[in-house]
Amino acid sequence: MANRVLIISPSADDVRLLEHALKQAHDGPFDVESVCALADGLERIRQGGIDAILADLALPDARGLACFDRLHDAAPHTAILTLCELENEDEAKEAVRRGAQGWLSKGYFDNYLVPQSLRNIINRLKVEQGLYVAQARAEITLNSIGDAVVSADMDGRVDYLNVAAERISGWTREQAAGRPVAEILNIVDGATGRALPNPIAVALEGNRPLGFAGEAILVGRDGRRIPIEDSAAPIHDWDGRAVGAVMVFRDISHSVALTSKMRHQAQHDFLTGLPNRMLLNDRIAHAVAQARRDGFHPALLFLDLDKFKHINDSLGHAVGDQLLQAVSERLVKCVRASDTVSRHGGDEFVILLADERRPQDAALTADKILLALSAPFLIGGQELHTSTSIGVSVFPLDGMESATLIKNADTAMYHAKERGRGNYQFFHQEMNTRAVERQLVESSLRRALERSEFRLHYQPKVELATGRITGVEALLRWEHPEWGLVQPDRFIAVAEECGLIIPIGRWVLHEACTQAVRWRRAGLPAVSIAVNVSALEFRHREFFAHALAILGATGVDPACLQLELTESVLMRDVTASADLLGRFKALGVEIAVDDFGTGYSSLSYLNQFPIDVLKIDKSFVRAIDASAGSNGAIVSAVIGMGKTLHHRVVAEGVEDQAQLAFLKANDCNEAQGYWFSRPVDAAAMGAILDAGVVA
Ligand code: C2E
Ligand code: CA
Ligand code: CA
Repeated sequence: MANRVLIISPSADDVRLLEHALKQAHDGPFDVESVCALADGLERIRQGGIDAILADLALPDARGLACFDRLHDAAPHTAILTLCELENEDEAKEAVRRGAQGWLSKGYFDNYLVPQSLRNIINRLKVEQGLYVAQARAEITLNSIGDAVVSADMDGRVDYLNVAAERISGWTREQAAGRPVAEILNIVDGATGRALPNPIAVALEGNRPLGFAGEAILVGRDGRRIPIEDSAAPIHDWDGRAVGAVMVFRDISHSVALTSKMRHQAQHDFLTGLPNRMLLNDRIAHAVAQARRDGFHPALLFLDLDKFKHINDSLGHAVGDQLLQAVSERLVKCVRASDTVSRHGGDEFVILLADERRPQDAALTADKILLALSAPFLIGGQELHTSTSIGVSVFPLDGMESATLIKNADTAMYHAKERGRGNYQFFHQEMNTRAVERQLVESSLRRALERSEFRLHYQPKVELATGRITGVEALLRWEHPEWGLVQPDRFIAVAEECGLIIPIGRWVLHEACTQAVRWRRAGLPAVSIAVNVSALEFRHREFFAHALAILGATGVDPACLQLELTESVLMRDVTASADLLGRFKALGVEIAVDDFGTGYSSLSYLNQFPIDVLKIDKSFVRAIDASAGSNGAIVSAVIGMGKTLHHRVVAEGVEDQAQLAFLKANDCNEAQGYWFSRPVDAAAMGAILDAGVVA
């Protein structure tokens, strides 16, 4: 498109000359318009589209520099050349100072150079305008991006900072200009804190770009440490020579924070915020490595809340969760900052005591924890009581690495539970042997009933005054195809733990009642038959109903049945126990308290139960001859007590003449023990009953 020129001149001759010259331009004619007065010129400029103005400064409505100024104000970015008389060149020069691009001297208008220089002027202005736009665009872009941009010259002196760079570094462009870039951007290694070479310097030195590098920290002007990610590249001129370098970097605090938050989440339990297994394993590995060098004994405490499941089931998960949180808080207070309290899942916690010097030190912490958790928790307006069982394993005795240490602490914790909860146990190697055996017993026990491997043996009870057999106690035996005859000590506890005691107990009761009926039918004298009832059976909802059904099915006289229960079973829920015993009593069934003296039941409670027989535990009987004095005194005291409560007293485990004599002298009613007979099978017992006395 042709350039459009506006001529403002009152002289028709001048206009004609200029038009003539401009139309001759060898690279194409100009479009030329002309007006005679400034007002018309201004009006035309306002309409736009003018690339250059040729103005005479002697116009009818304006003159001289004032005239120029008004034109320049109206078209600041348009080329203006004045048309002047030779003697007026001073005015023309002054106009150039005020923004004119040049002047044309009157008398030289037809010079062939006029169109060419006008074209040059117009083009130069256009390039300048383009540059201005490009620069403005770059400036705006650089200031609106989040990345910081800093550039420096060949000497590494800062010549540019964008807004983001100003914000992150704390330096303004003006302050930074000319200073060494390393002074403005103090970059250190995130891990070591040591100063890193400035990327701009590196890019200049190597004359090649540097990719993004992580882990760098920019120390801001105010000392703030900002993790950054940066890259740098040299800047080259037209000839490919480096003239400086530019560095781009961004504040990655946010993503660093996010990463560390994610790492935290991956390593911690969401409910309690405690480290999880993963982090615990790390810490154990670390503690173990340390301990190998300094000879310490890191210990693991494996904790399990007693009865947590019950709380969770009866009061709801929300309460359970709050309890776990409250427990965590107390646990953390029991240990040092260098120790790790972790949640292992559910109601299990594992604590790593990292720098114990002596293996026993763990006991102190365990004691502290037991005490801390024994105080009631106030949750949702109600008081909750819990206790914990703790197993302890110590490096290196109980394991050299995390998995073994945890496993063994866990095993020890189970032993603590067996010991009646609310205590701690150190791991012993034989616990593992027992754990293996227990597993073995449990799995074969599951098949024992269907394979009819159970037997009952019977042991007689003898009335001391007459020598008459008053009854027999049914004692369970397990005839294992490989192990032979297994004594109840080896399997009753396991059966209780896995619930198998319920069907087994039912079998025992049925078998004992059936045997009583068989002997009766065989014409043998009626004896009472005592059956041991474990805690789980006694608490079982259907226990009474099943017993009733068995009595009915076997046709045994209920008066011939005696149930043996330990004190602790009865004391667990006194009201329920009394109620159940009452129902059995109503049928005529007799009740015996087994292992009497080993529990700590109060007599006033025992008094509430309809008890017929007290069986003095064999440990007291054994003590009779060990020292003729004080221990025998316990037996006589218990015998006395039984008499006061109007119960029959039976001494268990009588093995020798001396014990027998003592018991007789103290008016004990009955006795049972190897002295009279070991437990024997039904046939042998039948023979004894037939004889009427023991040998
Ligand atoms: P317990 O009820 O105290 O049974 C008495 C235990 O003492 C029996 O051991 C018996 O063999 C043993 N004993 C008898 N006289 C003597 C003696 O003079 N000296 C010594 N040292 N021991 C004597 P056993 O048969 O091994 O039974 C052990 C425990 O197993 C029983 O203790 C009882 O608590 C439990 N048990 C046995 N059978 C059953 C059963 O059918 N059901 C349940 N729930 N528990 C049973
Ligand atoms: Ca018994
Ligand atoms: Ca007993």
